[in-house]
Amino acid sequence: MKKRILTGDNTTGRLHLGHYVGSLENRVKLQDSYETFVILADAHSLAYPKYIGQPDLISDSILQVAIDNLSVGLAPEKVTLFAESTVPEIYEIALLLSMLVPYPRILRNPTIKDEIREKELGDNYSMGFLNFPIMMASDILSVRADLVPVGEDQEPHLELTREIVRKFNSTYGEVFKEPEAMIGRVARLVGLDGSTKMTKSLNNAIFLSDDEKTVRQKVLKMYTDPNRLHPTDPGKVEGNPVFIYHDAFNDNKEEVEDLKKRYVVGRVGDVEVKERLIVAIEKFLAPIRERRAKYEADLDTVHGILIEGAKRTRKEAAETLNLVREKMKLPRF
Ligand code: ATP
Ligand code: MG
Repeated sequence: MKKRILTGDNTTGRLHLGHYVGSLENRVKLQDSYETFVILADAHSLAYPKYIGQPDLISDSILQVAIDNLSVGLAPEKVTLFAESTVPEIYEIALLLSMLVPYPRILRNPTIKDEIREKELGDNYSMGFLNFPIMMASDILSVRADLVPVGEDQEPHLELTREIVRKFNSTYGEVFKEPEAMIGRVARLVGLDGSTKMTKSLNNAIFLSDDEKTVRQKVLKMYTDPNRLHPTDPGKVEGNPVFIYHDAFNDNKEEVEDLKKRYVVGRVGDVEVKERLIVAIEKFLAPIRERRAKYEADLDTVHGILIEGAKRTRKEAAETLNLVREKMKLPRF
């Protein structure tokens, strides 16, 4: 029997290059060797105060994020794509698992702390927000996944998931396996503005669905080496977002090395480096755009994929829930 993957995204907007290198790329690579479940985490999205009262955004994003996943090359006949809220067993399992998690443990979670700060949540975060990692554990454990391809920021949630597994198994008896995280080729892609993470929420992303004109505008405005005023000034390559993107998306490695060499001695302008990056990103995005156009012209097919995905996942999650209830001696009448 094949091992299982569970992975996915919040439905808080379209997916970007950071999602690709952090997680999507591994999903595509592993779709033949693992039985893959991709979750469109719509219920999780409500953990952020920003999206409360924006039901249209969340529901439009379910479809867009599904198309993002399909457009990078996930094959619907191989993977199971589903919206989280269509598998209510996940909520029930999450509630039961939450009883095993000490509250201070969540407050110490570094990703929770980062998000409170970065998303400026102040005192305005909900119980649902604190429950985010437990819900994620439930997403993973509901389908009894072995491997979870994610960006580096999600690793603390995987650690918590493993703790929950150990606690559950030692308290009630073996039900779960400890899942492993698989971090992407670029663990955390920087933003266009040079900030530490490209994210949907900060307006610093190139989206997989951006058109040519938008990509061009975004790249030309990108943050580079702030100390470099003229093309003849020696520039800094390390930590420079333009070169980080070249490394990640330009498959012409010779060109990248040549640009770097010339950049550090002041023999190439930022505009040329950016123009070549635009060419590289366009080459990367072209097949993605082509597949996207096909799915966008046939939304019925996408809906069908999500209906099938919900059915398939509910079957697995119901089995898990039964095992959990049995072990916890919760009655069946
Ligand atoms: P939000 O700001 O709404 O949290 P996000 O851009 O962080 O949006 P998520 O849906 O939280 O997107 O992330 C989905 C997956 O993509 C996760 O595995 C996450 O680690 C990964 N990911 C997101 N942004 C990046 C990035 N910049 N670099 C690498 N991986 C990323
Ligand atoms: Mg996130």
